[in-house]
Amino acid sequence: MKDTIVLYSSIGRGHIFSMVELGNLILTHNPSFSIIILIPTPPNTANIDTTTFGCNSSITFHHLAITPPSSSATTTLPPHLLIFDITRHGNHNLHNFLQSISKTSNLKAIVVDFMNYSATEVTTTLDIPTLFYYTSGAATLCVLLHLPTIRQNRTKSTNDNQTYLEIPGFPKILTEELPQGPKHLEDIFIKISTTLSESDGIIINTFNALEERAFKTLEEGSCFPQEKNPPQVFCIGPVISVSGGEKDENRCLSWLDSQPSQSVVLLCFGSLGRFSKNQLKEIAIGLEKSEQRFLWVVRSESDEESLEELLPEGFLERIKEKGMVVKNWAPQAAILSHDSVGGFVTHCGWNSVLEAVSEGVPMVAWPLYSEQKLNMVVLVRGMKVALAIKKSEDGFVSATELEDRVKELMNSEKGKEIRERVLKMKVGAVEARAESGSSYAALNKLTQLWKEKDLLSFPSPDT
Ligand code: UDP
Repeated sequence: MKDTIVLYSSIGRGHIFSMVELGNLILTHNPSFSIIILIPTPPNTANIDTTTFGCNSSITFHHLAITPPSSSATTTLPPHLLIFDITRHGNHNLHNFLQSISKTSNLKAIVVDFMNYSATEVTTTLDIPTLFYYTSGAATLCVLLHLPTIRQNRTKSTNDNQTYLEIPGFPKILTEELPQGPKHLEDIFIKISTTLSESDGIIINTFNALEERAFKTLEEGSCFPQEKNPPQVFCIGPVISVSGGEKDENRCLSWLDSQPSQSVVLLCFGSLGRFSKNQLKEIAIGLEKSEQRFLWVVRSESDEESLEELLPEGFLERIKEKGMVVKNWAPQAAILSHDSVGGFVTHCGWNSVLEAVSEGVPMVAWPLYSEQKLNMVVLVRGMKVALAIKKSEDGFVSATELEDRVKELMNSEKGKEIRERVLKMKVGAVEARAESGSSYAALNKLTQLWKEKDLLSFPSPDT
């Protein structure tokens, strides 16, 4: 029977791509494994076409049906939060699937996207070694693991938003900078935190040199709450998923070919970042005033309106020598790797951060949702590879603020220092993945442990 690893992706192309890349990496280190990628598939959702993924032939896919009770269809959770809850409704099918493949293969372990944390309700019952894949960085993982303590210690003084919190492995942070959400959501994150702490291992999409302090904290285990042996951590990144998103329908790359080296600022805000018409107009004014070259991927709250309708009158005509504006989607990773790109205004999604760092592109941090506010703190205060955008109380960013930050990034002494720092990290990213590098070693250790012994008998880091 073949040694098999199951990779259980979360919903969404970004998560699936990331799992595919992880699968490819595992097989590079040990081609003798067979890998099955599980794709959760909610009702009325078409199966994703996996033939375009460009993956190793030892990877196969299985669509796992998610069957939520009808009442949850009326949930009011926004899409980026719903995702944490929904895969629980696939647990029955997960159980049957794992049982059936255990009969025909030697199931070594399951690697679960951390968003599918409730899968442990099944894997514990079946006694399958379970690791998590944490698709964001090591520093935000430290915050996640510290959440039960933060809740426990919550006193009047820490409710004061101006109090600094000391979180092991994370830069100093004000209480108000922590992502806020309803109690129900905090409960979910506390549950994720405990589940990860009790797992057999955590694979993180980062590299040691990028997040040294957080990595050390995780390795020492000081951010895990309980007395028992903490899970081992494996920093195996940067895992950058280029599969599928590479079509250049708007000819951005050929436009970049005609621009001077490192002159263009890219503005792109992830797969969910959308702006109101007012905010889009303000961005347009700020960009025009900055007099920088730019490539802007526009996503609005209303899909129907054209760029002409969304942007200030005459804007597209006026900027046509210096700027390119496309709607909805552009091949970001390929754009960031283009020599003409010299800056990136980003929503601080972790994949975007890794793509920028791997190409040595300095950033302006404009976080929008999920853990992005935390990523901004890491980028600005920890790594010092980004400038923070200032928002008004209601989250609005003025044209002047954008103009100032873009100019500062592209033209100032501080911008130059940031560029030099991020270029060093680009070198660090290459070194981490090379044969003598830390990420290579982490993956080797993981695959060897899978090959040699039962994962449950992993030694603890201090033995
Ligand atoms: N992306 C892209 N083109 C776009 C928007 C996003 O190629 O117009 C890609 C981007 O390169 C990254 C992913 O989508 O790989 C977004 O992931 P990230 O973690 O940055 O943000 P999320 O979408 O999860 O908030």
